[in-house]
Amino acid sequence: MTIEELKESLLAAPKNGFTRITAEDRVEMEAYAKRYMAFMDAAKTEREATSWAVREAEKQGFKPFVPGMAANPGDKIYYNNRNKSVALAVIGTEPLSAGANICTAHVDSPRMDVKPNPLYEDAEIAYLKTHYYGGIKKYQWVTVPLAIHGVVCRKDGTTVEITIGEDDSEPILMVSDLLPHLAADQMQKTAGKVIAGEQLNVILGTEPIEGEGSDLVKLNVMKWLNDKYGIIEEDFLSAELSIVPAGRCREVGLDRSLISAYGHDDRVCGYAEMEAIFTIPTPRKTAVCLLADKEEIGSVGISGMQSQFFEHFMDNLCAAQGVRLYDCLANSFCLSADVTNAYDPNFPEVSDRRNNSQVNYGVSVFKYTGSRGKGGCSDASAEAMSYIRSTFDAAGVLWQIATLGKVDQGGGGTVAAYMANRNIVTVDAGVPVLSMHAPLELVSKLDCYQLLLACKAIYLA
Ligand code: MN
Ligand code: MN
Repeated sequence: MTIEELKESLLAAPKNGFTRITAEDRVEMEAYAKRYMAFMDAAKTEREATSWAVREAEKQGFKPFVPGMAANPGDKIYYNNRNKSVALAVIGTEPLSAGANICTAHVDSPRMDVKPNPLYEDAEIAYLKTHYYGGIKKYQWVTVPLAIHGVVCRKDGTTVEITIGEDDSEPILMVSDLLPHLAADQMQKTAGKVIAGEQLNVILGTEPIEGEGSDLVKLNVMKWLNDKYGIIEEDFLSAELSIVPAGRCREVGLDRSLISAYGHDDRVCGYAEMEAIFTIPTPRKTAVCLLADKEEIGSVGISGMQSQFFEHFMDNLCAAQGVRLYDCLANSFCLSADVTNAYDPNFPEVSDRRNNSQVNYGVSVFKYTGSRGKGGCSDASAEAMSYIRSTFDAAGVLWQIATLGKVDQGGGGTVAAYMANRNIVTVDAGVPVLSMHAPLELVSKLDCYQLLLACKAIYLA
């Protein structure tokens, strides 16, 4: 054997995905990117992603979950968890005692939430006070176009949906920053303190209502909100309003190979899982897609992945087949799909180049995430990783090996640990992202499309 032959047979040789796809793959990839971008423009919060999923599921013949309902092969069922997370299932030909093939993702993203008593006026400018949600670099959220998305639930039980700042005819909102001319002190601060949490105050207006008295700008803004939405100041207490970047997804690069959007983390994985479950034929094992809320703050709460809404859903499906839930979970597999850090040549010092994912190399597969000594992660077994390799390879999925940055550089977690805690074999995989958690994040079309193929492979395994 020559050295070249020996290398080829023994050494791994990762390649750019563009050298490995066909002309037909490219057509499919571009079409998928368009569908994904349309979803992203319509879903900037977990509520919007959930309502999109429910709407689309109903179009695809999914029936709403009712405790005690039947679960026969080919049945399509969805469970809307209080409008903030959703489970979708296609019942397989094998009984649920054989386990389910599950794909999870989260549909919440870092942002600024409106405080419960947010509205005030200072120097005749009306503001909304916010409390950031998830891990953000606060300095990135000033002087960028912002929109409000969310709901207000009035005392009488009625709910009004609010979106301001997305249509070109609507105004946007903004947080101001200090001019460099007067930033001598600010520029001495560390990046975490350049903009303080209590400075993330969103400008709502500057025109006073006609008349005499104090807080006339605040009153004018409140009157505008009341005229348009029929709400009063106290209604902010029973509201979930989020401040997110305004604007639509765009193609990025002269070759249009990338997509910029707010909240690829992790709706890029959520969308792939949804489209996959909507398009697969009746699988052998029951396919389950879980889109969870609250991952960015620890997967906690009633709509997070630690919530027993998952057990409630699965237990009912199992009961319909006379199967014990724990037997089903023990035989299940879960792909925990979440984004990862794409290698960024502007910041080479944070990555172990040999173990970092790269844009256009396909789905990033993780044995573990976590921080420090793998803290807080679900460290998948060698057996589970072997299963993923063979399943992806058999389906022709382009994938790559990934870890989250250099040891001791930082780290992060996903919902994987919470699925593994349920006695489900779980592996992390997802789409590499540049500028993760920034107002606009970047992903490649190629990697997005490969995750769609990966989810289909898992559901149909
Ligand atoms: Mn994520
Ligand atoms: Mn995240």
